Amino acid sequence: MPDLDLLAIAPHPDDAELICGGTLARAVRAGRQVGILDLTKGEMGSRGTSEVRAEEAVEAAAVLGITERESLGIPDAAIANTQQTRRRLVAALRRLRPRVVIAPAPAPFGRHPDHREAAELIRDAVFLSGLARFDTSTPPFRPHKVVHAITFREDFVRPTFVVDITDTFEAKLEAIRCFASQFAGATQAGEVYPNGEPLLDMIRHHCAHYGSLIRVQYGEPFFTTETMRVDDVTTLEVSTF
Ligand SMILES: [Zn+2]
Repeated sequence: MPDLDLLAIAPHPDDAELICGGTLARAVRAGRQVGILDLTKGEMGSRGTSEVRAEEAVEAAAVLGITERESLGIPDAAIANTQQTRRRLVAALRRLRPRVVIAPAPAPFGRHPDHREAAELIRDAVFLSGLARFDTSTPPFRPHKVVHAITFREDFVRPTFVVDITDTFEAKLEAIRCFASQFAGATQAGEVYPNGEPLLDMIRHHCAHYGSLIRVQYGEPFFTTETMRVDDVTTLEVSTF
C-alpha cells in the first residue's frame, strides 16, 4: 500500500463526503493518493443499517475516485478519546502513513458528540503516532499536518482557508447521493440544519457561500491551529474588492 498524501478521518460513513468530498475529489484529480478512514460503521444512525451504509460508502468513495476506504469499527455514538481508541487509530495511521489528515471541527464545536470527540482523538493519535516508544509493535510515523473541516459549522470562527471545489462540487453531490439510506428525500443531515429546502439544495447553497469567500463558485472551509505561511505577498489570491 502506498503512503497516502491525504486521509480524511471521519466519525461516520458519509461525514467525509459532507464536509470535504469536493476537496478529496480534487486531490484525487491532482494525482494524490487519497483515503477515507471512517471511525465507526454508523450503526446507531436513525436510518439505514451498517451493512447498507458500508455498501453506500464504497460507492461514494468510487464516485470521488478513492480506492482506500476502511472503517476502524469503533462503536457508534460512543467515540471516546481513550488510550484504547488512540492505539487503534495510531495503528491505522502508521499503516496508511498520510502526509495530511482532515479531521472534523475541533471541540467544543460539533453537534454530534462523536464529532467533537473524534476531533480530539484524531489530534492526539496523530501526535502519539510519532512517539517511538508509543506501542512499539509498529514503527513511529507522524503526519505532517492536521486540518479541520468546518463545513456547515455556523458557530465556528472564520476559516483559515477555503479549497476551491468548483470543478468537483457535482462529484461531491453525487457521492452524497450514494447514501440513499441516509439522505433520500432528506431535509436535514448531520450539521446541515433544516430550513425547508431539500438537503442537496442546502449543501449547494452552503458551498456557494464558502466559494464566495474566495471569489469562486463553490468551496469547502478549513481551520488550522497553526499559522499558514506565505513567501511572496505579491501573488496572494482573493481580491479585497
Ligand atoms: Zn457524523
